[in-house]
Amino acid sequence: MRKMFINGEFVASLAGETFAVENPATEEQIDEVPRARVEDVEQAVRAAHAAQADWRWTPGIEKCELLHTVARRIRERREEIAVLLTREGGKPLIENMDEVEWVAACFDYYAEVGRHESGRVIPPVQRHQMNFVVKEPYGVVVCIVPWNYPLLLMSWKVAPALMAGNTVIIKPSEYTPLSTLLLAEIAFHELPPGVVNVVTGYGVEAGEPLVAHPLTPVVAFTGSVATGRRIATLAAERIKKVNLELGGNDPFIICDDVDLEVAVRGAVWAAYLNMGQVCTSGERFYVFERVAEQFIDRFVAFTRTLRLGDPMGPDVDLGPMISKAQRERVEQKLDRVREMGATVLCGGQRPEKLTRGYYFEPTVVVDVDHSMPLMREETFGPVAPIMRVKGIDEAIALANDSEYGLGANILTNSLEYALTAAERIKVGTFWINDPLTDNDAGPFGGMRLSGLGRELGAEGIEEFRETKHIHLDYKLEAKPYWYPYDWSKGRKTD
Ligand code: NAD
Repeated sequence: MRKMFINGEFVASLAGETFAVENPATEEQIDEVPRARVEDVEQAVRAAHAAQADWRWTPGIEKCELLHTVARRIRERREEIAVLLTREGGKPLIENMDEVEWVAACFDYYAEVGRHESGRVIPPVQRHQMNFVVKEPYGVVVCIVPWNYPLLLMSWKVAPALMAGNTVIIKPSEYTPLSTLLLAEIAFHELPPGVVNVVTGYGVEAGEPLVAHPLTPVVAFTGSVATGRRIATLAAERIKKVNLELGGNDPFIICDDVDLEVAVRGAVWAAYLNMGQVCTSGERFYVFERVAEQFIDRFVAFTRTLRLGDPMGPDVDLGPMISKAQRERVEQKLDRVREMGATVLCGGQRPEKLTRGYYFEPTVVVDVDHSMPLMREETFGPVAPIMRVKGIDEAIALANDSEYGLGANILTNSLEYALTAAERIKVGTFWINDPLTDNDAGPFGGMRLSGLGRELGAEGIEEFRETKHIHLDYKLEAKPYWYPYDWSKGRKTD
């Protein structure tokens, strides 16, 4: 059994309860972890709160060195971490090797960004005065993380929160807590006790007490809209700050001026990466009608070549989905759209040869329209619905016909198409000809139902800093506008 990480120590839950973590590729139990409840949350919050009293004053350069050490330790054990990520999450090892490197890079990035400045000096309104805008930490930040990129989405919260002078409590997903606990062993123990804590448990039992606790002024959350709404409601009771990275139903436009071979490879990858379980997966494809038939034929043909199997590889493109429940959700959605008139061109079922594990064939669907849930709700599975459009105006209108606003993509050689779409589509990230690529320095987040706030970039550290204005007069003298008023100088309104 692995233990939780509280105040620099690995501990069991106070009640001694645990829950199992399974491998979605084999349906076998890998390990078990503590099932935290409110009393465990209390311990973690107390530890993080006590540690923050010193951490906030630790000089920027020292914090910077510590975060670089965390990044180094992660890189030293990259493969071991990636293997565990694969076993608990089901993404192919090759993708998890990337994820681990991105995590290290995020710690390196914020190590430098965080020591760069902590506010600004502004011009005063009178002589012999100085005015400072000072950025301060909030205190203890709760980081609640989903299962699809367990370490990456953790690092986007933890690295900037720490550099801003906060301490953190991480609540990993109940599906993927092991890799976060391994990181505590490998890297977080380099930090003073209590600066990073990891509490394992379920959303209602461990997540909610963390969100509701009076000593956790900020909650940084990535996950579903339903959970985000619940967290925002709990946080509102105490006027807490929330950063919400929620779901998406990203549109993907293919114009008629592209090399179809390249376009198909890009679109297929955006649809099925991590079995479509990416918040910015291409979830709705709009292809110009002039090339639609050819594009769809090639999309189906290429999809049929994808190799499903053991995510440890080698020679595998797609692993299993995360869970039985997630696969069933996708199956039910496909049943609904079939009843509504959609046609499944390939996939749409469990592969015959893989009888264990939550595998599902990558699926292409046509004859879809915006009355169907595939085009309106997040699917979070390996399903690519493709719709024909007359041209760029219709594609933009359909892209915007959504309650979400996380990301959007276009493939084109036309500057006019690309920039018209970039300006008009209401999303947090717009990708032109390079789907789903992140940049540590580029802010990431959603509009509308897709969330509040931004991660990464300068914006990503601002979310964890409060602003204080310090007004200073270096000459203590009586001001003419203090009591008693001198009425001979006329009335203020004159
Ligand atoms: P989820 O909302 O079910 O769970 C996310 C986390 O919240 C887990 O750690 C869970 O234990 C916790 N949680 C659940 N209920 C809670 C509660 N009542 N109070 C506090 N914590 C609670 O999401 P998931 O299924 O793990 O992840 C998939 C979702 O995440 C998808 O909707 C996806 O789009 C979204 N996502 C968004 C982004 C982004 O950056 N915008 C990135 C990845 C995933």
